[in-house]
Amino acid sequence: MVTPGLWEAMEEAESDSGYPQELTYELLESMRRIDPGLNSFITVNGAAVEQARRRSGKGPLRGLPIAIKDSITTDGIETTCGSRILEGYVPPYNSTAVERLIAAGGVVLGKTNMDEFSMGSTGENSYFGPTRNPWDLERVPGGSSSGSAAAVSAGLAPAALGADTGGSVRAPACFTATFGLKPTYGRVSRYGLIAYANSMEQIGPITRDTRDAALLMSIIAGWDPKDPTSSKEPIPDYLGALDVDVKGWKIAIVKEMVDGGVDGDILRSFWRAVDEASSLGIDIEMTSVKYLGHALAAYYIIACSEASSNLARYDGLRYGMTGEYVGNWRKVFAKIRGEGFGREVKVRIMLGTYMLSAGYYEEFYLKALKVRRLVAESFYRLFKKYRLLLSPTMPILPPRLGEKLMDPLAMYMMDVETVPASLAGIPSASLPAGFSKGLPIGLQIMGPPFGEPEIFAFSARLEEKLGLNPRPPISL
Ligand code: GLN
Repeated sequence: MVTPGLWEAMEEAESDSGYPQELTYELLESMRRIDPGLNSFITVNGAAVEQARRRSGKGPLRGLPIAIKDSITTDGIETTCGSRILEGYVPPYNSTAVERLIAAGGVVLGKTNMDEFSMGSTGENSYFGPTRNPWDLERVPGGSSSGSAAAVSAGLAPAALGADTGGSVRAPACFTATFGLKPTYGRVSRYGLIAYANSMEQIGPITRDTRDAALLMSIIAGWDPKDPTSSKEPIPDYLGALDVDVKGWKIAIVKEMVDGGVDGDILRSFWRAVDEASSLGIDIEMTSVKYLGHALAAYYIIACSEASSNLARYDGLRYGMTGEYVGNWRKVFAKIRGEGFGREVKVRIMLGTYMLSAGYYEEFYLKALKVRRLVAESFYRLFKKYRLLLSPTMPILPPRLGEKLMDPLAMYMMDVETVPASLAGIPSASLPAGFSKGLPIGLQIMGPPFGEPEIFAFSARLEEKLGLNPRPPISL
């Protein structure tokens, strides 16, 4: 069986009402066969086939199954966020994004593997073991939405939701040759998204192509009274944007993002994609985003600081893991948190606590907020002149398992291309742009706030032109 993308599946379901149920059944069977090697799912929804049958024909999704990152809550389905401390936690409610998918006739296929609490760039920081890359099982699929990307790439799901704080949708999309979008901050409700660094994160689609992402966005985007940071900006016609003519558009390449730090093969693919873009009649220039050299540091200071506060709620009393309550509360909490959190999570909680403490707050956290504002303003200025900005998505090819794990700084450096858009809160996508030694390479497309339609329009045209339609060696 070749698993279709979401759009194709939708068309199939239109003419055959039994199809969603059949597809869901087949996917669960294939999962049993190939997922032990990939480890892309943590939990499977045991009721998925039955739900696909019941929702068949309903809404645009007609009972089709979607994989959901395990940081996004699902009513009645275990949600661990890749952490031991949440093992066994079954939320009594759906996140708004999932609620909207279900209202549109979608079915939760299962919960996908991820770096613990979304902290990581490779997918290796999961309590449930690393996810592997379907393009090369010895390599990582990127993180933190590792399982969502690996599953879509391998054909274990027609589409998935991930979440992106500093690159967690874009990095795995890049490493698995799938399309991934981090929407504008506030575009998709974060209600039910387990917080890591809440001032930056957004739920976003990981799909086979641009059209599938536009389709999912048209379902999950929009204001939500349960998320005060969600935006009331009207939802544009994302699918209509796919047919917009991009001829005559002015787009720029960010100079600092194509410098010596990027792998040579990636740059070659990048420039080839740029050539294809200019053959679409697009006017392409070079430009510069100010203060980019400080973006990575600012991102990690803000992310760790927010994490230290957001993760204070995991004490073994309210959700998931529990323990024996002996001794005073300090001892109980220390034991639970000591055993429940993995190493990287503890490192970040400690760093964040330090950076928020009296005396260091001004020196680190406040300074990082200033950098963030400067980077954002630099982007806003550029979007007065350019429709979109381009860069490679990742500076390196997918590393081998274990290669980056022992060196946290090398792991953080992987995010150098993706964190600027996160700091600025602007939408940013990764589109498959080529291969080197059989490994995927991605092009990052950044847009102005609420510029998702422009991203879709450009991406759809370029995708057509590149004609890659990638399927990894281990796909079904
Ligand atoms: N790799 C980055 C981090 O660890 C981004 C992760 C994410 O977007 N959640 O913070």
